[in-house]
Amino acid sequence: MKAVRLEQYHQPPVVLDVPEPRVAGPWDVLVEIGGAGLCRTDLHIVEGQWAQKSRVELPYTLGHENAGWVRDTGSAVTNVTPGDPVILHPLVTCGLCRACRAGDDVHCTASTFPGIDRDGGMAELMVTGARSVLKLDPSLEPVHVAALADAGLTAYHAVRKAVPLLYPGTHAVVIGAGGLGHIGIQCLLAITAAEVTVVDRSEAALSLAKESGAHHLVNAMTEDPLVAIRHLTHGAGAHVVLDFVGEGGTETQGVAMLRRAGSYFVIGYGGSVSIPTIDIIYSEINLIGNLVGTYNDLDELMTLVAHGKVRLHTQTYPLDAVNHAIADLEAGRLPGRGILVPR
Ligand SMILES: [Zn+2]
Ligand SMILES: [Zn+2]
Repeated sequence: MKAVRLEQYHQPPVVLDVPEPRVAGPWDVLVEIGGAGLCRTDLHIVEGQWAQKSRVELPYTLGHENAGWVRDTGSAVTNVTPGDPVILHPLVTCGLCRACRAGDDVHCTASTFPGIDRDGGMAELMVTGARSVLKLDPSLEPVHVAALADAGLTAYHAVRKAVPLLYPGTHAVVIGAGGLGHIGIQCLLAITAAEVTVVDRSEAALSLAKESGAHHLVNAMTEDPLVAIRHLTHGAGAHVVLDFVGEGGTETQGVAMLRRAGSYFVIGYGGSVSIPTIDIIYSEINLIGNLVGTYNDLDELMTLVAHGKVRLHTQTYPLDAVNHAIADLEAGRLPGRGILVPR
């Protein structure tokens, strides 16, 4: 079968013929991939930034945002059968550790991460585990939802954690309305009562945010976001800031946008946060990290998508065009998410 293989760091991945994977263990599920999302994390992997963390052995197959159809299952699998359309929770988890038993899949102590530390879904076939497959509503096509497996899930997870803080009368700020941010905006509007302000430097991103239903838009190229947020919140600041950028100064601005006892959610990464501890106690602000999401988060997100409350903007490419898609992503020519389609 065809697969997108990373053979060496700092070299573009290549599309090669590799042996088809098979069901080996009783809980394995073999999936025929309908779409695999291309993510900035893939670029960071190629650059070698994940080598120390993942310790993956090269060559291997990229792709951690996957959806498709079940092709074959191990002897113990009862939750899906061949032919079922599925989206894949990005991790393969054990189900036995304390985190798994609490539903906190991402912190499983015995997990693997296809596309990060083992063969992923930029291929015709991929093996995952029974705990990771979520059956799709018949109205949904794998190719349309694939990128929600990671990008959408991460955005939903952060918004879901902010729900108790966003009661009617509150104000939420979204920094960055790109691939993740535009999902975050739709999730905020679908499951909270907050007034939503979006800050971005790109007119295209802001018009996507407007289409998604954001209440206020702030163009950080032409106005000072801190002044704008202060004005919109009558001097008090935001209850919640969701930072989908996390570098280039947003990490300082995001914290400064908070009202007393406000919460700053870090989703995008790359920069660093430095706050005098006296400021943290005096204003009683919260800093909250966010990593992917749980299986139940993915299930809830798929419900919102099936109900038409969350829409993902995508552009498809054949698997062979992976480096074309990467070039588009790097050059900022990709509105929404790029999806690789094996057949
Ligand atoms: Zn991703
Ligand atoms: Zn576990």
